[in-house]
Amino acid sequence: MSTLFDKIIAREVPAEIVYEDDQVLAFNDINPQAPTHVLIIPKKPIATLNDLSEEDAALVGRLPLVAARLAKQLGFAEEGYRVVMNCNEYGGQSVYHIHMHLLGGRRLNWPPG
Ligand code: C5P
Repeated sequence: MSTLFDKIIAREVPAEIVYEDDQVLAFNDINPQAPTHVLIIPKKPIATLNDLSEEDAALVGRLPLVAARLAKQLGFAEEGYRVVMNCNEYGGQSVYHIHMHLLGGRRLNWPPG
């Protein structure tokens, strides 16, 4: 089933894209929870973390690499930031195409709600 993120990858829905390569896309979250809030997604449509297989390991490993690269570019790598992946209802997942949230630019509270 096609999700919103598939439409963003296909440029059918607009997004502020901040990074793209052949396997990964990153764009600003429409409802930012921090001064920087970027979503980093694989172009491969994987619904949830539960749907990952061994063959996805290298692909998914690219997500934190892109997060760290963006954090350095945006200037908050040293002060710190957070990456989050929500899974299913109790985890707060609302779009069923796996994504890594990159939150930075302010001190973040812990634990999350
Ligand atoms: O982890 P979760 O599935 O809840 O994250 C989905 C994210 O997608 C939310 O942070 C939401 O603000 C974002 N979103 C977006 N653009 C949309 C719809 C949702 O960036 N058009």
